[in-house]
Amino acid sequence: MVNARPLFVSVSGQLLICQAESQKFIYESSQDSIDRETLHLLGIYNKRPCYALFHAPNTPIPPGFEWRALRSFLGQVDDLHFDLAGRACQIISWDREHRFCGSCGQETAASSVDNARICHDCNKQFYPRISPCVIVVITREDHCLLARNAAWERRYFSALAGFVEPGETVEYALHREVKEEVSIEVQNLKYFGSQPWPFPGQLMLGFHAEHKAGEIEVDQREIVEADWWHYQNLPPCPNPYTLSGRLIEHFVSECIESGR
Ligand SMILES: [Zn+2]
Repeated sequence: MVNARPLFVSVSGQLLICQAESQKFIYESSQDSIDRETLHLLGIYNKRPCYALFHAPNTPIPPGFEWRALRSFLGQVDDLHFDLAGRACQIISWDREHRFCGSCGQETAASSVDNARICHDCNKQFYPRISPCVIVVITREDHCLLARNAAWERRYFSALAGFVEPGETVEYALHREVKEEVSIEVQNLKYFGSQPWPFPGQLMLGFHAEHKAGEIEVDQREIVEADWWHYQNLPPCPNPYTLSGRLIEHFVSECIESGR
């Protein structure tokens, strides 16, 4: 039986209201008059309904709480709580950004049956959107390919990644991204796992792949530096709480296990 006392996650854009000096962002509200229009059910948490709630940034927040950036929770809370915080931010942003119909310009309304906003003028429905991205660690025996993105300020290397474009399979997108960014061909794609990446709304789909043909030639647009790195001599790369970090970690442990 679900306890009636609800829990809340209050957000504004990529900021969450969080208990000061802790990572607790799920709380009970003492407010009696919460506007139902601003509430979105995230799910059941500890047998209690948990809602995302929009909180205007210029209005007071409960004593003992402060605003905290979603990104600051990365690696500080477990996956369940990070995904919940990301879901709250994405749902509220989608809701705020779809107040008007993109087709006819009329005001939309929240659906009573679905997690959707509806235009009653032209019957269009708007659902929260996620953008699938492929991310891949390419291996060549005991080396893996890691690259440095032009947008990163410090010298830091990661797996190759890119958005899946309309009409593409995930596999096709992977081959295309690798070819575009570093000019090589890959084979033996192996799906590894996925990770929601709410900055602002990606779903990362992680793969391992093997080098098939070609030598590295970076595009100098997205990628400015890329190389084959020996598993015992990796450059600064992502932490294991990111999918890229987990892919690299898995490659290293496989090399160790196989005694390379
Ligand atoms: Zn419309």
